[in-house]
Amino acid sequence: MKITDLKCAVIGNNPVVRINTDEGIYGLGQVEASKSYLKPHVLFYKDLILGQDPTDVERVMLKIRRLGSFKPWGSAVSAIEMALWDIAGKAVGAPVYKLLGGKIRDRVRVYNGAVRFPMAGGQSPANYADNMQRMKDAPQKFSIIKQGLAFHGGRITESPKHFYGTHQPGPFHANRGPLSERGLNYIVDCIRAMKEVCGDEVGLALDLGPGFLVPDARRLAQAVEDLNVAWLEDMLTGDYVPYVSADHYREVTQSTSTPIHTGEQIYLRHNFQELIEKRAVDVIGPDPCDIGGIAELKWVAEYADMHGILMAPHGVLDGLLGLAALVQVAATLPQNYLAFEYPTGQPEWWYDIVAGLPDPIVVDSHIAVWDAPGMGVDLIAEEARRYLREEDAGFFDL
Ligand SMILES: [Mg+2]
Repeated sequence: MKITDLKCAVIGNNPVVRINTDEGIYGLGQVEASKSYLKPHVLFYKDLILGQDPTDVERVMLKIRRLGSFKPWGSAVSAIEMALWDIAGKAVGAPVYKLLGGKIRDRVRVYNGAVRFPMAGGQSPANYADNMQRMKDAPQKFSIIKQGLAFHGGRITESPKHFYGTHQPGPFHANRGPLSERGLNYIVDCIRAMKEVCGDEVGLALDLGPGFLVPDARRLAQAVEDLNVAWLEDMLTGDYVPYVSADHYREVTQSTSTPIHTGEQIYLRHNFQELIEKRAVDVIGPDPCDIGGIAELKWVAEYADMHGILMAPHGVLDGLLGLAALVQVAATLPQNYLAFEYPTGQPEWWYDIVAGLPDPIVVDSHIAVWDAPGMGVDLIAEEARRYLREEDAGFFDL
């Protein structure tokens, strides 16, 4: 089998990758909804993979894997990898999880990072508690819910009473600096209010950064020790930070019983090595749409397990094709697997253009692993065509 074409269409906000072959089998992959600008980057790899056998996934990846980097520059390589696995599975009539070594669970646990309700009335601890109650009551019955706070949600850096640093307006989480005592207390109060709603029925995870300095991260982690939260995520580095700071994380992690989490922006196993070998965090959260693909994530999970580190993969914006990739790989992860972050289809019409997903998708915080060949999901061309941009009109052509 040979690759005959690599295409990319931006559907909604998600760049979608399609690889065609000379045998009529095609594969699909998806880039996060926050990266609609990545289409040219996907197409950059086209000439490097044309003519290759897509079922030799690793041989194809050797051509392109080195030409990527931390988020957002690992997404194109990751989406191509997913499309290759999709083809490899379809070629032998097996679900992708079989090719990754087989599943060790029939249902995969997910956590809530995407099913959101508008925050009513402001950002007081009581508002956060009300919002948490709505998420706890959601029909998916999530067993772990993550909320953004501090540098990763809310407007704490705009308040000189809470933040001693200089506020940086704009996207990509550019703020970093010292918090005041009042700022730290406010964060603790919000966590405490949400935890009262969660009780011990629902795990509470907090997405907090990047932006903390080491002493503040240490103080916060220690201040919430009695609350037994699921994890504190990305306090020091994280979203769009192109380095790891393993020694800094290790200092925070070793100072507290609160589980510390990072990893969503990190590209390739090599960049997890120090974090894992130094046991610098308790939980890592690589995203299959950023780390370099599902086999890369699987490799890191095995290595993390050998070092006593848990897996809670990121996925909030990975879309419904990304969801399929998460399900396939999560079915195969070792017993350090906790849950992955459940992505929703946005806009809502995404559910009308994808075939193969269960309905409802999440039952009791789990997704039943399906057995259709490849990733087991497909775009319904007749439905999806109306959402294609003019320049992408030929996306479904073989
Ligand atoms: Mg995060």
